Amino acid sequence: MSLVTRFAPSPTGRLHRGHAFSALTAHRAAQGAGGRFLLRIEDIDFTRCRPEFETGIYEDLAWLGLSWETPVRRQSEHMADYEAALETLRGRGLAYRCFRTRKEIAESAASAPHGPGPAFRGEPHSPQEEARRLAAGEPFAWRLSLEAAERALGGFGSLVFLEEGEGPDGRRGVMAARPQLAGDIVLARKDVGVAYHLAVVVDDALQGITHVIRGQDLFEATHVQRLLQALLGLPTPVYRHHRLLTGPDGRRFAKRDRSETLAELRAAGVTPAQLRKEMGFE
Ligand code: GLU
Repeated sequence: MSLVTRFAPSPTGRLHRGHAFSALTAHRAAQGAGGRFLLRIEDIDFTRCRPEFETGIYEDLAWLGLSWETPVRRQSEHMADYEAALETLRGRGLAYRCFRTRKEIAESAASAPHGPGPAFRGEPHSPQEEARRLAAGEPFAWRLSLEAAERALGGFGSLVFLEEGEGPDGRRGVMAARPQLAGDIVLARKDVGVAYHLAVVVDDALQGITHVIRGQDLFEATHVQRLLQALLGLPTPVYRHHRLLTGPDGRRFAKRDRSETLAELRAAGVTPAQLRKEMGFE
């Protein structure tokens, strides 16, 4: 089986050094294994994504010297695929409508019996209450019911994934997935109709991704993505989370560091060769 990996940026800002490191890491892995490198544009959040940032992604990656297969998968063009996955989960009683506001969710998570934390666990409203809210036109999100998921799978004990990169504390090997940490995640947002985890899991499967190579900041996301793969009967890729690049001040690069975008570096005369060398790619 040949290695298929992807770089999956969201066009919500210009790419920075951290993105370059991630894309180069995935690209090198594909080349080294005689495999495939795919680019995926994760643009489902139309409230934050902008066409000029997508154009910027193509420009910056080409400038870095990367090439990728075309056509590029743009998530906004495949909403029906995510809707179908959601329908599968709904059909199996694994998703429920959640009308709660952000504030209510935060309050409920803070007073949860297992102690305060970000993990929200909820339940559907009664059919009458739900009908009333629907009739009133109240917006709702679809959430995954962890309780129903746990019942459907007979527990989460068999949910594992292989970490070949650096998990927390540099650990690697077979990892137990702990979807409980995330609570009842949102599958479809009130505003944009689908949410990140569901779209990623569907796309990784549809695109035949064998190795997910991405930053350690997404390690925690793997727990719930592994659960969704199990519930949807999708294959589980191997994961290689890589360390996050930090600046001279020890902080990781982020979209807030405008001076460190690849476009700015390019304008300042930095060459792709310099950047690659500095990041350990020759
Ligand atoms: N679109 C996500 C981001 O830009 C990455 C998703 C992934 O690699 O799984 O953070």
